[in-house]
Amino acid sequence: MDFLRPATWREALAAKAAHPDAVPLAGGTDLMVELNFDRRRPDRLLDLGRVAELATWETDEDTVRLGAGVPFRDIIERLAPRLPALALAAHTVGSPQIRTRGTVGGNLGTASPAGDAHPALLAAGASVEAESVRGSRDIPVEEFFTGPKRNVLAADELIRAVRIDTARGPQQFAKVGTRNAMVIAVCAFSLALHPHTRTVTTGVGSAAPTPLRARAAEAFLTGVLDEGGHWDHGRPVSPAAAARFAELAAGACAPIDDVRGSADYRRHAVGVLARRTLHWTWTAYTAPKGAASCA
Ligand SMILES: Cc1cc2nc3c(=O)[nH]c(=O)nc-3n(C[C@H](O)[C@H](O)[C@H](O)COP(=O)(O)OP(=O)(O)OC[C@H]3O[C@@H](n4cnc5c(N)ncnc54)[C@H](O)[C@@H]3O)c2cc1C
Repeated sequence: MDFLRPATWREALAAKAAHPDAVPLAGGTDLMVELNFDRRRPDRLLDLGRVAELATWETDEDTVRLGAGVPFRDIIERLAPRLPALALAAHTVGSPQIRTRGTVGGNLGTASPAGDAHPALLAAGASVEAESVRGSRDIPVEEFFTGPKRNVLAADELIRAVRIDTARGPQQFAKVGTRNAMVIAVCAFSLALHPHTRTVTTGVGSAAPTPLRARAAEAFLTGVLDEGGHWDHGRPVSPAAAARFAELAAGACAPIDDVRGSADYRRHAVGVLARRTLHWTWTAYTAPKGAASCA
C-alpha cells in the first residue's frame, strides 16, 4: 500500500488528481476501523494529517468556515457559542479519544446516515466546500448525501471546509442511542430557530437512507409561530401544534428495521425528539437576556 503524505493543501490536491483512487485519511476513526477489519484494502492512502490549513477555522459575522480536519473536541471547546447544535452533536460522538481524532470532514466523507454532525449541519444551514485542481465548489449539505455512505464528491475532489451559518437564535441537537455514550444513533434530530427571519430549520439523522430536513414540519412550525405572533409575545405553541410538528417530523423519515431499532420505533423517537427540541429551543428564546441558554 502506498502512503502519500502531502505537506500542504496544494500538494494534497495534486496528489488526489494524480491518484484519484487514493483514499483520504483524516483522524482515521472510521477508515482505520475499515482497514483493521479488512473491509477495505486500498492501494493508496492520502494522509491529510500534515495539511495545516485543514485544522483551522475562520469566522466572520455570519459564517464559520470550518476546516475539514478540525476535530470534534475543538468544536466543543472553541466554537460552541457560534455553532451550538454542532457542538452538542460533537459532544455525543464516541469518547474523548474519538472526539480528539475524529473530524467533521471525516464524518461527511463517510456519509453514514447516522453521522452525528449531519443533522446539526442541516439545521444550521451549511455547505460543503469541495476542491480539486479543477477548482472549488460549494455544495449545500442537503445535496451532499446521495445514499447510505455515498456522497457527491468526484474522484479527484477533497473536502476543504464546511461553511456554517453562525447561530442567530437557539439551536438544539438530541440523539437516541441504545445507551448513553459511545453509541451510533438510533435516530437524531436537530432544530434551529432563526428569529431574524422568523423561520425554523431541522435535520434528521439515522432515520432514512440519507440525513434529511423535515421540510413539512419546518413549514408548519414556521407558519404557526408567525401567524400566532409567537416571535413577539413569546408564548409557547399549543400542545396540539407541538404534536403536529412532531408528527410531521416523524412523517419525513423513511427508516429501516435494524439491530439498533425498528422503523416504527425510529419514527416515534424522531417525533419525541422534535417535540423536546422545540420545547428546549423555545425556552431558550424566551429566557430573560443574560440567563443561561440551554443551547
Ligand atoms: C469507537 C468509535 C465511536 C464512534 N462514535 C461515533 C459517534 O458517536 N457518532 C458519529 O457520528 N461517528 C462516530 N464514530 C465514527 C467516526 O468517529 C466519525 O465518523 C468521524 O467523524 C470520522 O472522522 P475521521 O477524521 O476520523 O475520518 P477518517 O476515518 O479519517 O475518514 C472517514 C472517511 O472520510 C474520508 N475523508 C476524510 N477526510 C476527507 C476529506 N478532507 N475529503 C474527502 N474525504 C475525506 C475518508 O477517506 C474516509 O472515507 C465512531 C468511531 C469509533 C471508532
